[in-house]
Amino acid sequence: MSNAIVYLVGAGPGDPTLITLRGVECLKRADVVVYDYLANEQLLNHAPEGAERIYAGKIGGRHNQDQEEISRLLVEKAQQGKVVVRLKGGDPFVFGRGGEECEALSAAGIPFEVVPGVTAAIGAAAYAGIPLTHRDFTASVAFVTGQEGKDKDESAIDWDRLSLGGGTVVFYMGITTLRRNMQRMIEHGRSADTPVALVRWATTVCQQVLTGTIADIADRAEEAGFKPPAITIVGEVVTLRDKLRWYDSRPLCGRKIIVTRAAEQAGEFSAKLITRGATVLECPTIRLVEPESWQLLDVAIRELPGYDWLILTSGNAVRFFFQRLEALGLDSRALAGCKVCAVGPKTADAFRMFGVRPDLVPSDYKAEGIVNEFSRLDLKGSKILFPKADKAREIIPCELKRMGAHVDCPVAYRNILPDRLPPEALFALEKRSVDCITFTSSSTVQNLAAMLGEELLLDMLKGVTVASIGPITSKSCRELGLKVDIEPSVYTLDALTAAVEAHFS
Ligand code: SAH
Repeated sequence: MSNAIVYLVGAGPGDPTLITLRGVECLKRADVVVYDYLANEQLLNHAPEGAERIYAGKIGGRHNQDQEEISRLLVEKAQQGKVVVRLKGGDPFVFGRGGEECEALSAAGIPFEVVPGVTAAIGAAAYAGIPLTHRDFTASVAFVTGQEGKDKDESAIDWDRLSLGGGTVVFYMGITTLRRNMQRMIEHGRSADTPVALVRWATTVCQQVLTGTIADIADRAEEAGFKPPAITIVGEVVTLRDKLRWYDSRPLCGRKIIVTRAAEQAGEFSAKLITRGATVLECPTIRLVEPESWQLLDVAIRELPGYDWLILTSGNAVRFFFQRLEALGLDSRALAGCKVCAVGPKTADAFRMFGVRPDLVPSDYKAEGIVNEFSRLDLKGSKILFPKADKAREIIPCELKRMGAHVDCPVAYRNILPDRLPPEALFALEKRSVDCITFTSSSTVQNLAAMLGEELLLDMLKGVTVASIGPITSKSCRELGLKVDIEPSVYTLDALTAAVEAHFS
C-alpha cells in the first residue's frame, strides 16, 4: 500500500471554480473519489476518466451509521493501495464530519491529508455581498449549527453570548429550525429588528437570497417556500448587501445562454457572457479542420512576392494561413511586399499576433465593407490573394474581379459538422430552460439546422431569444424560419454581448 493515501478535500461552496489548486491536484491523482451531496459534481471532471466515483451523500441529514460506513469505505479503499479523494462540500472541518473520518483513518494507520475549502458561510457572504465583519458594525463572527439541541434539552450553544455579543452569527443547517433559533436569539437578548439574510445554494447559478429581521424572517421564509440547503446570516452587516450586492445584480444573472461557435473560439465569447452573470452552455456546431489539400495555398504562398494584397476575413483564416507559412519554413517576412487587409478588429488582432499590422480594416466589418473600401482603389491588373474557408461567400472574389483584379482564393481551412452536439445543451433545450441562443456566423446556424433537422430546430428554439452577430448571419437564420431578436449594429463579439445585455436588462 505504498501509494495509499486519503485526501479530505474541501470542494468549496458550489461554484466549481472555488476549489483550491491543491484540491484539483489531488483529484487528478485519484483512483477513487467519494463525494458528497453538496460537492459540485462538475468537480469530478478533474479526476481521471477511469477513477471510481462513489456518491456518499444522503440528502437531508446523515445518520451515524452512514457516517461509520463512509469511514469504513475510506479505510477499505486505502487498504487496497488506492489514492482516495474524499470530496466534501465547503470545508471538510466545518460541520463536515471530516474530524470523524480523520479519526477513523488515524486509528487504521492510514496516511491522510486535509485540503481546506471555502466554507458555505464564507462563500455565501461573498456572493451575497455581506462582509461578515466590518469595522463599522462588528469585529466577530460565529459559525453555529442550526440543528444542535434538537434532540437534547440542554444546548451546548451559549445562546446568551451569541445573542448579546453583537457579533455576526451564521447558522448552518438552520432552515427547518429557523423559527426556533430566531426565537432563542430574541429570548437571549438580541434585538428583534436585527437584519437577517438567508442564502440558498450560495455561489451557484441557483443562488437565492431572502432578507428580513430576526422577528419576521421565519414568516418570510415560510411564505416564500424557502428550502435548504441554505445558511442564515444574522447581524447588522446584512444591511451592507443593499450597497454591495454584485453577484445576483449582474445584468445576465440567471440567464442560460447557448454559444454555438467552434470549441476553439467559444471561450472568449463565453467569458464575456459569464462575467455578466450568464450561465453559458457551449454547443459547438462547427469543427475547423485543414483543407483536403494544401496544394493551392502552398502555390500561392510560394508566389507571395507577386501579390499586391492579402485579404483574410477571420481570426481562423489568419491562424491557418500562418500555420501553413510556418510549415513551409517561412514567416511574416514573406508578406513584406504585400499589403494586408483584415475584415475587422479581431482579425486585425490575430494578424498582430504574428507581427503584422494590417494596412486596411474596413469600417463595416464584413465582406461588403471590404468591397466598399477596395472600390476606392485602382485594382486594374493587381493580384489579390484571398485564402478562405471552404464555405465562404463569393462576394469578395466576384466584386474584386469586376474591378479588374486577379483574385486567387485557395482554401485555408474547412468548417465541418462536429460528430455530435453536447448532451447538456440538448437537454437544456428540451427542458425549455434556455433563454438565448447566439449565432456568430451563418455556419453556426446552418450547421445546427443540419444536425438537428430544420423541423426540430424550430421546435427546440420556440420561445428562445435568437441573437445574431450581423445581417448575413441573421439572413441565414431567417432562411431557416427563425426570428432574430437581437442584432448589434456593429458586428463584433463585444457589440453582440452588449446587445444581449441590453435585451435582458
Ligand atoms: N462542510 C460544509 C458544511 C456542511 S453542513 C461547509 O464547510 O460549507 C451542510 C450545511 O452547509 C447546509 O445545511 C447549509 O446550511 C450549508 N451549505 C453548504 N453548501 C451551501 C450552499 N451552497 N449554500 C448555502 N448553504 C450551504
